[in-house]
Amino acid sequence: MTTELQSELQKAVERRRNFAIISHPDAGKTTLTEKLLLYGGAIHEAGAVKARRAQRKATSDWMAMEQQRGISITSTVLQFEYQGCQINLLDTPGHQDFSEDTYRTLAAADNAVMLIDAAKGLEPQTRKLFEVCKMRGIPIFTFVNKLDRPGREPLELLDEIEQELGLQTYAVNWPIGMGDRFKGIFDRTQQQIHLFERSAHGSKEARNTVIDLGDSRIEQLLEQDLYYQLKNDLELLEGVGPELDLELVHQGKMTPVFFGSAMTNFGVELFLHYFLQYALKPGSHSSSVGEVAPTYPAFSGFVFKLQANMDPKHRDRVAFIRVCTGRFEKDMTVSHARTGKTVRLSRPQKLFAQERESIDVAYAGDVIGLNNPGVFAIGDTIYTGQKLEYEGIPYFSPELFAILRNPNPSKFKQFQKGVSELREEGAVQIMYSVDESKRDPILAAVGQLQFEVVQFRLQNEYGVETLLESLPYSVARWVEGGWEALDKVERLFNTTIVKDSMGRPVLLFRNEWNCHQLQEDHPELKLSAIAPVI
Ligand code: GDP
Repeated sequence: MTTELQSELQKAVERRRNFAIISHPDAGKTTLTEKLLLYGGAIHEAGAVKARRAQRKATSDWMAMEQQRGISITSTVLQFEYQGCQINLLDTPGHQDFSEDTYRTLAAADNAVMLIDAAKGLEPQTRKLFEVCKMRGIPIFTFVNKLDRPGREPLELLDEIEQELGLQTYAVNWPIGMGDRFKGIFDRTQQQIHLFERSAHGSKEARNTVIDLGDSRIEQLLEQDLYYQLKNDLELLEGVGPELDLELVHQGKMTPVFFGSAMTNFGVELFLHYFLQYALKPGSHSSSVGEVAPTYPAFSGFVFKLQANMDPKHRDRVAFIRVCTGRFEKDMTVSHARTGKTVRLSRPQKLFAQERESIDVAYAGDVIGLNNPGVFAIGDTIYTGQKLEYEGIPYFSPELFAILRNPNPSKFKQFQKGVSELREEGAVQIMYSVDESKRDPILAAVGQLQFEVVQFRLQNEYGVETLLESLPYSVARWVEGGWEALDKVERLFNTTIVKDSMGRPVLLFRNEWNCHQLQEDHPELKLSAIAPVI
C-alpha cells in the first residue's frame, strides 16, 4: 500500500465519529438533532430540519403515505463538521414509525447517545434500543434533557440507569437547579460553571457565560441553597462515584452523563465537545478473514438498510451501506460477497435530511446510499481486493404478529413474489405455521407501521389487496439447537411453534410471563430473543 493512501485513510478515521440517538418519543430527539446541526454549521437557524420536512413535496405514493400520517419513514444520515471532526449522525426512525430499521441502524453505529427526559427517566423504547446497543457493546453517552422544566432528582436518574440498565454512570457535568430555578451546569473537568440564559427558543447558538468555581461572583449569582446543594452533590459524586474510565465507556459498561436543555440550546455545545473526545472512532469489524481495521487499504462495507421507492420516477431502491474499510469512490466496481457477482456502484448518494446529494469519496464510518437494482439484501457485504464477508445483521425479536391473506386466488403469483421480495428487503419478518395445510404467511414486526407498509406496497407495487388478521402473541424466541433441541423436550405449554423463513423453529408466546414460565419448566431449552445470524 502506498504510504499516501495509508496516511489519507488514517486521517479520515481520526476525524470521524459516528453515532445514533436512542430515545423514547418526545424526549427531544428532533430538537437535539437540530441543535447539533446548528453547532455543526450545517444549518443556520434551528427549526430548519422540521421546516425542510414540511416543505417536502409529495413526490411519490410512498411519500404521500408519509405525509398523510405526518411521519418520516425514511431514516437518513446527517453529516456535519465540528472542531475539525466529521460527525455522522445516523437518524433512527423511532416514533410511530418504530420498526426493525431502527434496530438495524444501530448495527451501523459506533456510538449511541441515550436521550432521556429528566422528568420521565428511562422509558420503554429507550430500554429496547439500549438492549441492542448492549448486545453490540457500543459506547453509550447519556444526555438528560429538559432541565429547564421541573424534573426528577439528578442522583435518582443516575441511580435508575445503574440499577435498571446495569451501566455505571459518570456525570461529566452537573445541573444547578431545575425548572424555573435552572441556573446552569457545572463542568467537572474544567471545574467551571456555565450559566444558563434563556435564549429566544434557542434558535441561535446560546451565549455562554462561564465562571470558575472559586469566583467570588458565584454567591451573588446563585442563590445560597443552590450553591450549597451543588457543593454537597459534588462531594457526593467525588466521594462515592467512580472515576471516568474511558476503557469501560468504550466497552459499553460505563456511560458519561450530560445534563442540559436542547430546546434552549443549553449544554448542547459542551456535550458535543466532550462527546468528540470520548467517543469511539470507526473501529475494526469482525469478518470471515478475522478483524479488519478501518485503515485496511481495500474498500469494504455492509448493507444495513434498504429503502424502496423514494422516487416514483425511478421506482428505485436505495441500499444504505456502512463503509468499514478503505476508500469508497464513485463508479467503482466491487464484488458482492453473497452472490459472487461484480457490481458497479454508480449514483452514490450522501443523505442530508431528505435531500440526496451526490458524493465522490467516503471512508470508514461513513454511510452511503446506493441505487439497488435488486442485488442487495440486508447484511450483504461488498468489497474490493481479497474476499471478505462481515457478520450479517440478526433478526430482532418481533412483538406484533398477523396472518396475511390473499383473498384473490388469481393473484397468487404476485402475492408470493411480493411477500418474498418484501421479506428479502427486510420490510417485515415472515414466519409459517408448522401445519403444512396452513400456507398463509405470518407477518412478524416490531412496529405496527411495518404491517401497513407491507399491505400498502403489495397493493401499489404488486397489485394485490390483502387482509390482515392479528394474532394474540407478543413475544418470539428462537431455539438454540433448532428442531433437534426441541425434539428432546416434552410437550410445551402456552406456546405456539412456528418456523421462520429459514425453516428454523420459533416459539410464540402471548406474553412475557408465559415465556418466562416455559423457561422455568425447561431450563435445558436455550431460547434467544435474537435470531442467530446465518
Ligand atoms: P422527539 O419526539 O424525541 O423528536 O422530540 P421533539 O424534539 O419533537 O420534542 C418533543 C417536545 O419536547 C417538543 O414540544 C419540544 O419543543 C419539547 N422539548 C424538547 N427539548 C426540550 C427542552 O430542552 N426543554 C423543554 N422544555 N422542552 C423541550
